[in-house]
Amino acid sequence: MHEYSASEDRYSQNSALYRRCGNSGVLLPAISLGLWQNFGADTPIDDCRKILRYAFDNGITHFDLADNYGPPPGCAERVLGQILKQDFSSYRDELFIATKAGYDMWQGPYGSWGSRKHIMAGIDQSLQRMGLDYVDLFYTHRYDPVTPLDETLQALVDIVRAGKALYIGISRWPLHALKYANDYLRSRDVPPLIYQGRLNLLDRAVAEEGICDYCAENGIGFISFSALAQGLLTPRYLNGIPQESRMAKNGSLTPDKLTPELLAYLKELSAIAEKRGEPLAAMSLAWVLSQKGVTSVLVGARSVEQLSQSIYSLNVFPDGLADLPLYGNKVF
Ligand code: NDP
Repeated sequence: MHEYSASEDRYSQNSALYRRCGNSGVLLPAISLGLWQNFGADTPIDDCRKILRYAFDNGITHFDLADNYGPPPGCAERVLGQILKQDFSSYRDELFIATKAGYDMWQGPYGSWGSRKHIMAGIDQSLQRMGLDYVDLFYTHRYDPVTPLDETLQALVDIVRAGKALYIGISRWPLHALKYANDYLRSRDVPPLIYQGRLNLLDRAVAEEGICDYCAENGIGFISFSALAQGLLTPRYLNGIPQESRMAKNGSLTPDKLTPELLAYLKELSAIAEKRGEPLAAMSLAWVLSQKGVTSVLVGARSVEQLSQSIYSLNVFPDGLADLPLYGNKVF
């Protein structure tokens, strides 16, 4: 592909794009790009490159990774590292790059969860794969019910002190543990920047648990992962399961999720979006962005077209979002 020079207009296209993350100094784009899927060895690197360039050209400065994203695990970080080097080397200070550790990465007793041993090796391996000296944000990827919280949290503090990450994030911890983490980290002058959890029209459990309120009241940002419910909150599955879709291809979204009740709800939502004259995906994301405490939504994209519909959520009319019907059953 031709040499990359970022669009001169990347920061002037949408003034609504940036939002303050909690009470920190950091502004994040309302739409952030996740590299969980579509950045593995099964995707040509130029397809990945197109999406990253399009994101950045549209002011999306925040890319979200984890050590295990691929497939195979580690591949998304390697792909990003290669593209950073080739396309974005002069834009490093304009990017906010996150990664995580805590899920299965290597064999044996230290290859997963929240021990200091795992977390310390995890950050070093991630930095090496991405070819970076530091990440902007480093997360504990999941709650470990066995490892003492102090052990995990002190490892995070030490990672910041060592200059390997600028900020710390918490992903998928229950409220009681988030509260403990907030107290622990603040008392060591490393306040948590952000919490990452799933919030969308199909899954409001984090809000119901009180996590969004807690974040809002304690100056912690909140970013929703799978903000489109892995594609369910788009027209993708309204008329069957397309061959190339996530549901047809891998195990993270299985066909049994698409019950008649869910399909009826998605069709109802789609009719509302059509009446409003907005893409279903954009309207669904705008709903998440209107929720208390939410800083940003993390979306995935297999194409520039998909990402452009997500970015369109910034143009969605706010009136009526609060009246959208909510799905009452459990999907995930
Ligand atoms: P989404 O809910 O945005 O789903 C993305 C998928 O939806 C796309 O790959 C595509 O699937 C489909 N899609 C998107 N836009 C459209 C459109 N306009 N029309 C039709 N289909 C569309 O996000 P992800 O589930 O990918 O998660 C986003 C990010 O959140 C991840 O990359 C990761 O960074 C983070 N995450 C974090 C987790 C954690 O534990 N902390 C867990 C999960 C995710 P298709 O392949 O069918 O085209």
